[in-house]
Amino acid sequence: MTELTHLSMAEALDGLRKKDFTATELTGAYVAAVEAARPLNAFIVETPEIALRQAKEADARYAAGTARPLDGMPLGIKDLFCTEGVQTTAASRILKGFIPPYESTVSGNLFRDGAVMLGKLNLDEFAMGSANITSHFGPVISPWSGKDPAGASRKLVPGGSSGGSAASVAGRFAIAATGTDTGGSIRQPASFVGIVGLKPTYGRCSRWGIVAFASSLDQAGPMTRTVRDAAIMLGSMAGFDAKDSTSVDLPVPDYQSFLTGDIRGLRVGIPREYRVDGMPAEIERLWQQGIDWLKAAGAVPVEISLPHTKYALPTYYIVAPAECSSNLARYDGVRFGQRVEGKDLQEMYENTRAAGFGAEVRRRILMGTYVLSAGYYDAYYLKAQKVRARIAEDFQKAYALCDVILTPTAPSTAFAIGEKQDDPIAMYLNDVFTVPASLAGIPGISVPAGLGSDGLPLGLQILGRPFDEGTVLKVAEVMEKAAGPQPLPPYAG
Ligand code: GLN
Repeated sequence: MTELTHLSMAEALDGLRKKDFTATELTGAYVAAVEAARPLNAFIVETPEIALRQAKEADARYAAGTARPLDGMPLGIKDLFCTEGVQTTAASRILKGFIPPYESTVSGNLFRDGAVMLGKLNLDEFAMGSANITSHFGPVISPWSGKDPAGASRKLVPGGSSGGSAASVAGRFAIAATGTDTGGSIRQPASFVGIVGLKPTYGRCSRWGIVAFASSLDQAGPMTRTVRDAAIMLGSMAGFDAKDSTSVDLPVPDYQSFLTGDIRGLRVGIPREYRVDGMPAEIERLWQQGIDWLKAAGAVPVEISLPHTKYALPTYYIVAPAECSSNLARYDGVRFGQRVEGKDLQEMYENTRAAGFGAEVRRRILMGTYVLSAGYYDAYYLKAQKVRARIAEDFQKAYALCDVILTPTAPSTAFAIGEKQDDPIAMYLNDVFTVPASLAGIPGISVPAGLGSDGLPLGLQILGRPFDEGTVLKVAEVMEKAAGPQPLPPYAG
């Protein structure tokens, strides 16, 4: 039944409706694929019993003619989403053994619509990273592999922080997955493994029940094989939630209805400032190829300026750590997960946090505490907030001149596990094209657009106006068609 795991979500839903196969068969094929893919370390917890029970329930609804929008779709859930009764760790030692008594709104929405849970996916610890190498549970290995200069095969990162999500969807052992994106964690891994990753507008999907990293930036979104699948998934994930004070009360449109293929006359902004120093020639070429594809479909490229782009990365790496240092203060050994005793309360806190957090998380907490401390608050945090407002304003002005913006997703293809590991700045540079949209809160998608000279996937990013995911998806689908069928990774269970 391997071929069942190669269907897109739209195709699988169609097959189930036509009774070509059952949800139990589909889920069975995925459960076997998850098991076979264990060497990639994409799952922290597998939940085959839950999956098969949900599949059976879906089959009953198909038989009764009461099927729901996602009935029988076997998903991986990033282990940042709290799942009722199933361990949720954020890939951190400090949360090991934490079993949430509640379900996150987004995962709850997916299960309400009939989705099946294959398990909880590995990620960078607390979603901090770009390579999925900071997880307490070990790195995720990409289903793609690279070659070193001598031609020997080397293991690659799947990107991060949603590395397990990316690997499972590309490697054909989850039909789709949830991701979260604070500064690029959906879009960059999607680009690294050749899948579609959509970060919706801030406020579009509820953050309730998602382990917080940087609350003013965190946003959940779908990671899928096709643009249509992203439209289907977002329709279930999105929606107002009174439990998240930043959730926006707007109706959820039928995102699939935007996929008309007609982008004639649509203005595509090309931001001058994204031609960053040292951008590899092949990224430049890919970007030009994207412009040509959209032009051939009738869109009109326009040059735009986003003058504060160069400040986005430093701004993000002040705002995100500041919020993280505050959010992670709750892990004190009293309320959640791990505790390491000490001679008094203070020492217990210290011991717990020293043992519970990994090096990158500690680095972020230190940076965040520093920029929030008296004397530095004005110089760093407040300044960063002001620059953030300017960055958002840049986009607002640009959208008077264009309808969407086209950029590369990441400055390179995937790198090897171990590379950049000891160089946080090199790692942070990965986020150069994704972070501005996060700071501005606007939607963005990464679409597979071809392979680099090393034979590895590269994505292009389409950004849109706030809450205009529909247009973003429409343009993305045109790009997906123009790019044509993409090769599968060597590991495609
Ligand atoms: N790579 C970025 C970081 O390390 C983004 C992570 C994310 O979006 N969760 O902070």
